[in-house]
Amino acid sequence: MNLPMSDDLERIFQTVVSRNPGELEFHQAVREVLESLSPVVAKHPEFTARKIIERICEPERQIIFRVPWHDDSGQVQINRGFRVEFNSALGPFKGGLRFHPTVYLGIIKFLGFEQVFKNALTGLPIGGGKGGSDFDPKGRSDAEIMRFCQSFMLELYRHIGEHTDVPAGDTGVGTREIGYLFGQFKRITNRYESGVLTGKGLDWGGAQVRTEATGYGTTFFVQEMLAARGDSLDGKTCVVSGSGNVAIYAVEKVEMLGGRVVACSDSDGVILDEKGIDLELLKEVKEVERQRVSVYAERRSSAEYLPGGNIWDIPCDVAMPCATQNEITHRDAETLIRNGCMAVGEGANMPTMPAAVRLFVDAGVAFGPGKAANAGGVATSALEMQQNATRDSWTFEYTEQRLAEIMRDIHTLVYETAEEYGTPGNYVNGANIAGFIKVAHAMVALGLI
Ligand code: NAP
Repeated sequence: MNLPMSDDLERIFQTVVSRNPGELEFHQAVREVLESLSPVVAKHPEFTARKIIERICEPERQIIFRVPWHDDSGQVQINRGFRVEFNSALGPFKGGLRFHPTVYLGIIKFLGFEQVFKNALTGLPIGGGKGGSDFDPKGRSDAEIMRFCQSFMLELYRHIGEHTDVPAGDTGVGTREIGYLFGQFKRITNRYESGVLTGKGLDWGGAQVRTEATGYGTTFFVQEMLAARGDSLDGKTCVVSGSGNVAIYAVEKVEMLGGRVVACSDSDGVILDEKGIDLELLKEVKEVERQRVSVYAERRSSAEYLPGGNIWDIPCDVAMPCATQNEITHRDAETLIRNGCMAVGEGANMPTMPAAVRLFVDAGVAFGPGKAANAGGVATSALEMQQNATRDSWTFEYTEQRLAEIMRDIHTLVYETAEEYGTPGNYVNGANIAGFIKVAHAMVALGLI
């Protein structure tokens, strides 16, 4: 069941649209949150009096900068860099960097906005932000990646710090890129300030489980949603879109918990492997060789490659979109429901289009929205910050146990909040309301800033 949006919230939304023209993904993310907030506003007149919703939709600071660099043939290349520091009511701005040709201000603002509520749900002291560039790392040499990262950091360094703003990875930014960024930060500032970036390598300040955290966390969340219905992942057929960081570790944890992942993808096509994805082979192809997923099918007889295929046409019990925004359409949701899909866990940010979300919720599919389901990545980044601050380093087992506890707590909070606000089982409302209330209370306490 969805909540009706009040006239006041509709007016606020229209103002956001007119003040941020053309930023469609940002509009979509804001609308999705505001649609849950009518009962909260009715219960908390102090939020209206202090214009908390209007303030929460306006980033504290937005930085856009030029990133010039030389490619391997000596040509000058110019990209655009972004850092949107959205909200620091709960702690330093925290959120990843995305390097992808589709990046523009509207994408970074949608991601930053989502991040504010996601980070609040973790229960850890982190605000929300996001950054990145329209730089396309695909097909670039290692030397080009390094030169780009160094130029990007030459501007970014003046805006970040362990008590100010702590970026991490996202699409196109993994341990290699974080290494080049951190190296350049250290060189410019002459400080080994480990807590300035998360997602670092294990030998130089990184945390166990950070690489696995988003995929593992999303799977833990799905497991919690199924447990709330007296079920589990054991024996379930799953489909995981993408084949990047989030997807690979979602596949790994689903298989560890007894599920069978029969398909994953990249932006060129889908691999279907009814025997279950061979994780070692997938890691070799994607993490070591940095190849396309089609190479997986060439090397595994049970696998079929579907160029340009639609992964959501493949029947499954559990769907885990782990690639990109707006990848599940209304039609895809219809297909998934018709094929008996019982749970959806969003490993990616906003991968399900609004009409598709409504369809899942109305059909009673257990639908875990990204701000709750994929919060394990940033939560483990916050654990990395804790270890950096105390110059400590925790074991894999202990860190994974902390991650599992955090995901269980997020599930409980979201589940109970949905019930409290009259929409039991609606994790979208539960996540939006619980995340918002936490940030809103802090903003009230900190005064008009
Ligand atoms: P990544 O390692 O760069 O992988 C992204 C994967 O998605 C790649 O396999 C990519 O394929 C695929 N993809 C992109 N567009 C696609 C499309 N239109 N159709 C099919 N596949 C597509 O990125 P990631 O870190 O896994 O992030 C994936 C998603 O999770 C993003 O929405 C990100 O914001 C979200 N997320 C990430 C983290 C984190 O800790 N990394 C945390 C929270 C949320 P190509 O190689 O063809 O582009």
